[in-house]
Amino acid sequence: MGKEFIKKSCSSNRIMITNKIKKNNTCPLCGRMGKMVKNVTVKHLITDEFMGKIGNEDYYLCMDENCDIVYYDLNSGIIFSKQQVKVPIWFKDDANPKYACYCSKVTEEEVINAVVKDGATIMSQVLKITGAMSEPNCQNNNPLGQCCHKIVQEAINKGLAILNQ
Ligand SMILES: [Zn+2]
Repeated sequence: MGKEFIKKSCSSNRIMITNKIKKNNTCPLCGRMGKMVKNVTVKHLITDEFMGKIGNEDYYLCMDENCDIVYYDLNSGIIFSKQQVKVPIWFKDDANPKYACYCSKVTEEEVINAVVKDGATIMSQVLKITGAMSEPNCQNNNPLGQCCHKIVQEAINKGLAILNQ
């Protein structure tokens, strides 16, 4: 009787743990962790056709490069795929063009070219050559709602890696 009770409470513990894992904001399609994105950003980037579906909650952005899902909210069950977002998501495998700076519409390729062809090595030179981040409005334009600086820097690093090959 006593043993039975312990078994039961163990298994109910396990169920609680499983529920917790399900709640932790992983993409419903690929299961990878998403990054939180403010509602205002999602409203800016979803195509007009699906505007009415968005509601007022914040969303998560699926960071998996092969996954079709862009934004999801596990509470409401609402998801938006790549086709329902106005801009290509730079880290998704088929993003075209791949933007490094969404505000000034500067592509990763342009940043890499500034490094490889024009000899820029640091951020300020790249920004001058490409015009990236000249009109920053990242909360509305960048799919994460965050400053494009980090993506531009990653593109610079790619350019420098090409030079060092
Ligand atoms: Zn996903």
